Amino acid sequence: MRASFASVPGSADRSNEDFAAASHDVVVLLDGAGTPPGVESGCSHGVAWYARQLGAQFLIEAGATPRRPLADALATAIERLAALHGDACDLTHTNTPSATVAAVRRTGDDLEYLVLADSVLVLDVLDTDPVAVTDDRLARISRSLRAEMDALPTGSPEHTRARCAYAHKLGSYRNTDGGFWVASTDPAAAAHALTGSLPTDRLRAVALLSDGASRLVDRFGLTDWSDALKILADDGPAELIRRVRAAEDSDLHGERWPRGKASDDATAVYCLL
Ligand SMILES: [Zn+2]
Repeated sequence: MRASFASVPGSADRSNEDFAAASHDVVVLLDGAGTPPGVESGCSHGVAWYARQLGAQFLIEAGATPRRPLADALATAIERLAALHGDACDLTHTNTPSATVAAVRRTGDDLEYLVLADSVLVLDVLDTDPVAVTDDRLARISRSLRAEMDALPTGSPEHTRARCAYAHKLGSYRNTDGGFWVASTDPAAAAHALTGSLPTDRLRAVALLSDGASRLVDRFGLTDWSDALKILADDGPAELIRRVRAAEDSDLHGERWPRGKASDDATAVYCLL
């Protein structure tokens, strides 16, 4: 596989909590779930640390054990992270760091994929429309909780307060049946990922996008997956993110597109097979 990627933090004064990495046969993309500034998490390491460490562990495990399902490799990586936190972190805390995960692995003539929570994987299938693999459980819960936050101007003190309340309520649905599943401290979450595989000779390429990048299509509706793949192929991942930022800059207060953060960390990976 030939992978190229770009990753841009949502704001210059905060760490990028997305993480992407690739080996010759595995690509992983994680989006750390950030608690709003000032909210206690029980962890001294932080969300960016969690996403990077989990991504690195998953990349290693998925590459080292090609016959194990990707979900099993992810479960092992989540288990290792719990140990890496150490005793000083309270892993039972509602806001303990978590991350969405998207990954692909080339094994022989197949491409396996895994999607957990709201990162998006887009398969560029030959002779047909692209297939977007999206885990919509988080989005469905989120929609039912965010009305109050979305009614307020993004960045205002009222919006920040509503965002804290929203994050708190959302946390109670995390890794529960009937809620949504995300990588955090419970290895069992990995079994709830969407997984599948396709023969590589049916595929032209595959894209992995954090929700800060996929929003050009699935939140803003400014283009479709076919055109997003064309931008990635012709101009590269950085251009896709530039277009996201241009849209956000045209709507800084979230009047056209209500959202939690004016700009989110945005990562796009494009892999040619
Ligand atoms: Zn920790």
